[in-house]
Amino acid sequence: MSLKPYKIFRSNRKTVFIGFNQYGDLIVKAPKSLPVSKIYDLIERHKDALNKKRKDVLSSRLRSKKHLFQEGEEFWFLGRNLKLKFVDDVDLFSTRRGISTTEKNLLLPERYRNFAKKEIEKFYRKEAKKFFTSRVHFYIVKYFEVFGERLNYTNLKISSGQRTVGSCSPKNSLSFSWRLIQAPIQIIDYVVAHEIVHIKEKHHQKAFWDKVRMLDPDYKRNLKWLKENWFYLREFLIYD
Ligand SMILES: [Zn+2]
Repeated sequence: MSLKPYKIFRSNRKTVFIGFNQYGDLIVKAPKSLPVSKIYDLIERHKDALNKKRKDVLSSRLRSKKHLFQEGEEFWFLGRNLKLKFVDDVDLFSTRRGISTTEKNLLLPERYRNFAKKEIEKFYRKEAKKFFTSRVHFYIVKYFEVFGERLNYTNLKISSGQRTVGSCSPKNSLSFSWRLIQAPIQIIDYVVAHEIVHIKEKHHQKAFWDKVRMLDPDYKRNLKWLKENWFYLREFLIYD
């Protein structure tokens, strides 16, 4: 396995960090003054450990898994791996809590313990509607900036889609599967860009992909990620 840095971030830091992003790409954070050759030396010297780390990162990516809704179970949300944590129903300010997230946890109020599956799905749907709507608006503005044309959609629906991640109907009604809210933001953005381009281009020919590329230069890599991982995302909470 070749270990070439995918990105080197330079800053005022004093130490070097070598690690991986969720795609398994090598990421380096280094002091401004450190020569590139020194970075390559370091990578070479730690090659074995890095290759092992890379394997771990890739194998801990999304896996389909039956949830039992126990403390500490893992849930994907916007590309983050959150651990389920039960919390009191009422917070410090004496208001009833709903489901929420922190950097590391999906917080589930105790009263939902026996309806966890239903409530978590409701939460994902609600967040999906909010998030996808804001990203659609962002890309409509971007489309206008890049192509000078205004896009109008008639409706934005959240589906339970397992086969279809997103779609744009002949009448320009957009639909996205709530299960996509598990994916990293750049993947959601690719799907959104793809569907809003369909408002003008109702096909998958070159003119379509040219526009997608203008909105998301990384679309090929995002599409690849989606193809590899959608199988896992779509299994989320479907069992009984
Ligand atoms: Zn399409």
